[in-house]
Amino acid sequence: MLKGTGLVVTSLCAAGLITTPDPQETIAAIDELKRAIDDTAAVGAGSLMFVAGGVDPRDKNLESTRKRVLDRLAALTPYARAAGIKIALEPLHPMTCGLRSVLNSTKTANDWCDALRAEDVFGIAIDTYAVWWDHDLERELARAGKRIINFHVDDWLADTQDLRLDRGMMGDGLIDIPGIRRMVEAAGYDSYREVEIFSQRDWWKRDPDEVLRIVKERYQTAV
Ligand code: ZN
Repeated sequence: MLKGTGLVVTSLCAAGLITTPDPQETIAAIDELKRAIDDTAAVGAGSLMFVAGGVDPRDKNLESTRKRVLDRLAALTPYARAAGIKIALEPLHPMTCGLRSVLNSTKTANDWCDALRAEDVFGIAIDTYAVWWDHDLERELARAGKRIINFHVDDWLADTQDLRLDRGMMGDGLIDIPGIRRMVEAAGYDSYREVEIFSQRDWWKRDPDEVLRIVKERYQTAV
């Protein structure tokens, strides 16, 4: 369907959630991730967005959870390399550490890339919503450099009501998006800025044509 349309698939979003301590669940989660790697290759997407998974209630150990994720990513490296795809490690906001991701900062993403030693496979996705709070952001973005392979833009609403599904349109919230964009570009990033607004109570309810029109406007004025 995509062939000949002129559309670019910037990334496939998302796969991962591989934090379980249970051996059987681990096998299923890794299989699912391999399927996502195959899908990424099939649609010719630029990268696969990787979301680590949260702390497991049976475990409650942040350090061992992170180690499991890192070990499993290391084991998956040959599979991703053979498929010829890039995996974008996406830090999510620390408030998601319980349910969605134990990867919560650009520093940790850099540390994981250092540990994985596979720069041809692993990169980093920077999402303004996830990283804007971070006082080490400028330094860690500079450290990331060419590891940055995706850049997501969206805003943090002052009265946000849901940690995942209440993102704001660029310009409606508190994030200095042009400031973060300058840091990302200073680090060497020179590709798409992907608008990623999960918004159950607002934008998903509106007429898609209206949403697209406003996205295009804000892309000019607030990114
Ligand atoms: Zn994102």
